[in-house]
Amino acid sequence: MGDGLRLEGVTIALGGRMLISITHAVEPGEVLTIMGPSGSGKSTLLAYVGGFLDRVFEASGRVRAGDVDLTALPPEDRHVGILFQDPLLFPHMSVAGNLLFAIPAALRGKSERMRLAREALAGVELDGMEDRDPDTLSGGQKARVALARVLLSAPRTLLLDEPFSKLDTELRQQMRRLVFSKARERGLPVLLVTHDEADAQAAGGPVVRIGG
Ligand code: ADP
Ligand code: MG
Repeated sequence: MGDGLRLEGVTIALGGRMLISITHAVEPGEVLTIMGPSGSGKSTLLAYVGGFLDRVFEASGRVRAGDVDLTALPPEDRHVGILFQDPLLFPHMSVAGNLLFAIPAALRGKSERMRLAREALAGVELDGMEDRDPDTLSGGQKARVALARVLLSAPRTLLLDEPFSKLDTELRQQMRRLVFSKARERGLPVLLVTHDEADAQAAGGPVVRIGG
């Protein structure tokens, strides 16, 4: 099991107006859901955790992963994995290319990297899809490639920015189950932001409500 994630006195304001004020711990394998309407600051909170918050915001507070103070680190050293509404696969790159790109550089050896990419694809039931052009995949398949890619990047925590909202009902339920089971398997603490109550229910963890 990995480390938990802790938000300690995190506050974010915009033009003097407080958007977010939160202190919360997320255990390994647990999903903390932040529920709020559009514009309430959900993506903003994830940007703070990821280290790419726009400078127009005034933010304070610490984000810790175990003993590591992430707030003291540049984004590339935080090892935070993020899934957005869109799968954001690189076009003009095969599925395997998209996956290999995410594997930490410290893992050397072309054949070993390819083995990991294949294994990750099999883990999301996309065996044998490595040579496909992402453009030829269905929405659900693209979402699973994005999940495989973020898991390959060996994140210490997973941030989910409404990643199920563009999928239709059936796929949405499958994808929720897949994402939450992978996170639980790996003991990843997950921060899910959404405006969909069904996401929070499926996550099965604590829920914090923001913004009216
Ligand atoms: P949510 O993800 O909950 O829909 P956001 O976190 O994207 O909301 O936005 C919160 C608020 O901050 C909104 O009022 C939005 O218009 C504003 N905002 C977001 N990004 C910026 C930015 N780069 N500059 C100025 N205002 C922004
Ligand atoms: Mg948002």
